Amino acid sequence: MESRELVIVGAGPGGYVAAIKAAQLGLRCTLVERAEVGGTCLNRGCVPTKSVLHSAEVLACAREAGRFGVVIPEAAVDFAAVRERAREVVAQIRGGVEQLLAANGVELVRGEARVAPGPVVHVALPDGARVSYQARDVIVAAGSAPALPPIKGLDGPRVMTSDGMLAEVPALDRLVVIGGGVIGVEFASAYAGFGAEVTVLEALPRLLPTLDRELGQSLALALKKRGCAVHAGALVREVRDDGDEAVVTFELKGELRDVRADAVLVATGRRCDVGAVCADGLELACERGRIVVDECMRTSAPHVRAIGDIAAGGPQLAHAASAQGIVAVCDVAGVPCEIDLSCVPSCVYTEPEIACVGLSEVEAKEAGMQVTTEKCLMTGNAKTVIAGMDRGFVKVVATEGERRIVGAQLLCGRATDLVGELAVAVANGLTVDEMARVVRAHPTFEEGVGEALEAFGTGAIHALPKKRRAV
Ligand code: NAD
Repeated sequence: MESRELVIVGAGPGGYVAAIKAAQLGLRCTLVERAEVGGTCLNRGCVPTKSVLHSAEVLACAREAGRFGVVIPEAAVDFAAVRERAREVVAQIRGGVEQLLAANGVELVRGEARVAPGPVVHVALPDGARVSYQARDVIVAAGSAPALPPIKGLDGPRVMTSDGMLAEVPALDRLVVIGGGVIGVEFASAYAGFGAEVTVLEALPRLLPTLDRELGQSLALALKKRGCAVHAGALVREVRDDGDEAVVTFELKGELRDVRADAVLVATGRRCDVGAVCADGLELACERGRIVVDECMRTSAPHVRAIGDIAAGGPQLAHAASAQGIVAVCDVAGVPCEIDLSCVPSCVYTEPEIACVGLSEVEAKEAGMQVTTEKCLMTGNAKTVIAGMDRGFVKVVATEGERRIVGAQLLCGRATDLVGELAVAVANGLTVDEMARVVRAHPTFEEGVGEALEAFGTGAIHALPKKRRAV
């Protein structure tokens, strides 16, 4: 059996980042991957989805060009070209990651790994051969896969998960999306942009039910304005095939309804397969199908750590996996790491974009904190008006008294970029006054952050005072 200092199972954004960090810290690292480098995020998730969303945005811009004084006679979508573009983007980024791994001296082994006590990692290679590594440390970064709820008919030919949607990027006139979480609303936004009739069916009372209430409610309004049908509190009973279309039967307020579509996307969450990565004899403590870890990503088995979607406790996000990977590797190498895993921004690439970090007002109050929330409405923001965007806001949550920023929720242009400065504030415990010291450039979307901060003091300059002041 060969010996290794560190074996990492899975080359997604958790595993490959951990491998490069390990190399930087001088560890001899072997990275085992059964499919493509980059995992779900790069091959079947974040990256191709954002490429498809970008195509939809370009189409929407072209169709609205007249409003901005630009004449484009006819703009149309070519789904095959959208798919090809996403493939090119993925291939380029994947090639870059492969190059980085090679340049850092990471040993990349293609095969299916199972971890046994020891820890020992057994790898079944594509040619049928097997190799085993006696590892000093192991990091499990095996990710997750789409989960299908127990609804009748989900094995039908027109039912897809995000994997199928991204592999095909099908040309659709009508799409039904089951699940109004992050994946569901991103595909709804993309296909609404392509001009399809989209229906979103969410079981809970609002879209994006795990985020601040106002985000899901405002997004529902924005999607409806773009022609989508959004049904919250909808219980899907059955999907069946009827000739060349699918029929989805759902219950809304006690009434059964049918909606017909060319395809049905099921986006109701993802599941992990811990059993598939553990060889006989390795028992890892789990919680709801994910591996229990401590703050250094250590599992219940000695020298076995877990990161990313398969690790319990954290959000199932690519950047969370990468950060956890760095924390785990620093722990393996015995070097300090400053990353605060409790502060992970969350971004939704809909139109308009959504982002949040830290606590919402409700979460802060539930945690026993005394907080106040201030908000900037983006209707008066020059960049928002120039871009022809409508409703949007930046909300900041801060403690009373000290006014330490504990969270922020944004729904506006470039929200996914703006959230960064608020994440810096939350992670470093900065106050509203410290953040308000910065002069923000004009015209930018970022001015909305400044105005939300000003609202904690004498008021934002570009917001009407709550009470008209006497002259
Ligand atoms: P999710 O958990 O975010 O949302 C699933 C939604 O489906 C929930 O709102 C749930 O209430 C609803 N649901 C469940 N069963 C249902 C049913 N039978 N009928 C109707 N609705 C039902 O899961 P997801 O959207 O599949 O995303 C999976 C993971 O991937 C998440 O952790 C997400 O954070 C991550 N992700 C992140 C991004 C991003 O950061 N931009 C993008 C895509 C995915």
